[in-house]
Amino acid sequence: MPPKTIIRLALPVPLRRLFDYLGEEGRVYPIGARVRVPFGQRELIGIVIEQTEDSEQDLDKLKPARALLDENELIPSDIRQLVDFCSRYYQCPLGEAYNTALPKLLRNGEAVSLPQQEFLQLSQEGLGLPPGGLAKARKQAALLTALQEQGKLDKTDLKRLCISNAVVKAMQEKGLLCWESEQLPTIKAEEQQKQEALELNDEQSAALEQLRYQTFACYLLEGTTGSGKTEVYLQAIAEVLRQGKQALVMIPEIGLTPQTLGRFQNRFRCPVVAIHSGLNDKERLQAWGMAKSGQAGIIIGTRSSVFTPLYNPGIIIIDEEHDLSFKQQDGVRYSGRDLAIFRAQKAGIPIVLGTATPSLETLHNAIQGRYHHLRLTRRAGAARPPAISVDDIKQKTLIGGLSQNSLDAIGNTLAAGNQVLVFLNRRGFAPSLICHNCGWVAECRHCSARMTLHKAQRQLRCHHCEASMPLPTQCPKCFSQELIGQGYGTQRSEETLQEYFPETQIIRIDRDSTRKKQAMHELLHEVDQGQPCILLGTQMLAKGHHFPNVTLVVIVDADGGLFSGDFRGPERMGQLITQVAGRAGRAEKPGRVIIQSHNKDHPLLETLLEQGYHLFARQILRERQLANMPPYRQLALLHCDSKDGILAESYLQGLRQWLEQYAPPTPERVYLGPFPAPMEKRKQMFRFQLQFNCENRRQMQQLLQLAGQYLEQSKMPHNIRCSLDVDPLDM
Ligand code: ADP
Ligand code: ZN
Ligand code: ZN
Repeated sequence: MPPKTIIRLALPVPLRRLFDYLGEEGRVYPIGARVRVPFGQRELIGIVIEQTEDSEQDLDKLKPARALLDENELIPSDIRQLVDFCSRYYQCPLGEAYNTALPKLLRNGEAVSLPQQEFLQLSQEGLGLPPGGLAKARKQAALLTALQEQGKLDKTDLKRLCISNAVVKAMQEKGLLCWESEQLPTIKAEEQQKQEALELNDEQSAALEQLRYQTFACYLLEGTTGSGKTEVYLQAIAEVLRQGKQALVMIPEIGLTPQTLGRFQNRFRCPVVAIHSGLNDKERLQAWGMAKSGQAGIIIGTRSSVFTPLYNPGIIIIDEEHDLSFKQQDGVRYSGRDLAIFRAQKAGIPIVLGTATPSLETLHNAIQGRYHHLRLTRRAGAARPPAISVDDIKQKTLIGGLSQNSLDAIGNTLAAGNQVLVFLNRRGFAPSLICHNCGWVAECRHCSARMTLHKAQRQLRCHHCEASMPLPTQCPKCFSQELIGQGYGTQRSEETLQEYFPETQIIRIDRDSTRKKQAMHELLHEVDQGQPCILLGTQMLAKGHHFPNVTLVVIVDADGGLFSGDFRGPERMGQLITQVAGRAGRAEKPGRVIIQSHNKDHPLLETLLEQGYHLFARQILRERQLANMPPYRQLALLHCDSKDGILAESYLQGLRQWLEQYAPPTPERVYLGPFPAPMEKRKQMFRFQLQFNCENRRQMQQLLQLAGQYLEQSKMPHNIRCSLDVDPLDM
């Protein structure tokens, strides 16, 4: 009997295994091609991982595959390697990792279509004309000569030669011309720069010099806003393009403003494709195809662009590397930044992490010498940094979270014809309990961490050591009963502002108001008009965009960051303050920042304001080390959501007990929880989490594999949902 053709597939189902199907006898199924197969009552599209002759399953029970969709590998080997790593590191089924990595239309089985370029050619009859023909019609003669010399012309050529449609039409009617189309060419190793580069200052030149080496290295480019990081990227890319290679530029979720894109397009001749939320599925697929085929020289995109195949990769750039949006927060919770580093290493190319406010993980790696540290300390443009002051709001009457002082400053700024930015820290901070009278913050008795406020259970809980206590009714320091949850009242800020400034337009920018396609673009356009207005936003506003007409920034609740139960709170706060301070104002209109806090003299706040982000960050790194937290330890969270909170909690308890049998807790392997998540209830679901804290990656991977086994083999009640978050950013 001839050997069977068995293909092993990754299928988009939540099971951690591959699936075997029977292929047609004698046929070759390329690895990385798609195959349509029956799966239960459904039909799925899988990716060929392997072709073999035997199976662990009963051969007679294997179902035949239906159709092979790609003659050649669709997904090149470097992307397969990346997806495979993603699946192992983040502990998700390979099929789900592929599902995350591929554009929707590819998942649905469509073929890649590449854009065509139209051009004009002489017809048979036209080719018969002699040089210098059509002399009576001057414009037609010019077009004829150009075609005789160059063979073909595209629309931009015609524009350049000032040849109108009428001329083309006239010659077409004589049967002398015809339009043809062909695929765009693959980029070539040649000069692609069309606009003069700026002359670099010393620091920029030193940075660029380092980036020349075409081997793997990870660079942290730490430079304040406006210090000329983008100019360094552009010049590093110019060199890569000269060698016929491509650049992948990754930016935060909403950072892709038309200005950013325009800067790349104006500088280079080769096609620049942007992969952003405004694209429809077809455009997305086309961008994917242009990157893979080498038609695009530069690919700009958000976190998922890390999976875009490249014909000839030359460099990867991650702008605003500290930004949270590089981490996917549901499904496969991967970090686009971290995967990009893996990718650059495998491809043997440099990767640049650029930011004014490095994440502590990245800074730690730079200090340890694993990354090269490049710094730009001077501003390239003319804008001056704003003046920052802290507004002590202890005991003050707050109206919708705002102090009278802030409201007055807002009023004056608007009256002077300028714009105001008001920041609310609604997301990403585990709330703590603060005394409005004296600024006391509930801290854990066993460790120096802040207790997290759980309103529903009327409890304070420490997420670092599992201590818990009922909500106190008065402040232990000053006996005041005015204990407030941090962030209290900020929900009402918008109403308050509208009441106070009824004539002023309030532009709210957050995830909800920018969900629609183009919405962000339109909102920002509105702001760019320069009319006095109040911009009200969350962390989202701190990135990418520059607001030259904003001369006052109010940060409503600095305590939310400084005293968050989430150990990343202070880091976020420092980044936010530094980022907004860098985005407001310009040379002739310097900005001003007011930070509202109950703890004006907090040492971290002082370090930040007096010595800057870098030293501030080094200080919190020391605290992290003492607290056994990342980047000194590895962290993972197992989330469990259910309409039935008790069920979710007890499932995690069961999991912990089971794990502790096989991997007993030690100082190197710590279990914490289950705790209610900081936002305990969302969309009718109660949310619990179990935390793992390990000394190194290897230990963490072992533990997660065990946990993965439990999740698959234990009888999970049907009404709970579990997910793993490796290197979580939201605690
Ligand atoms: P960043 O990316 O660090 O925020 P940019 O590259 O956007 O900084 O530079 C900020 C401004 O300074 C831009 O307007 C840019 O054109 C200008 N700029 C950057 N480098 C130089 C330079 N070497 N000489 C003059 N202007 C520069
Ligand atoms: Zn008090
Ligand atoms: Zn504690």
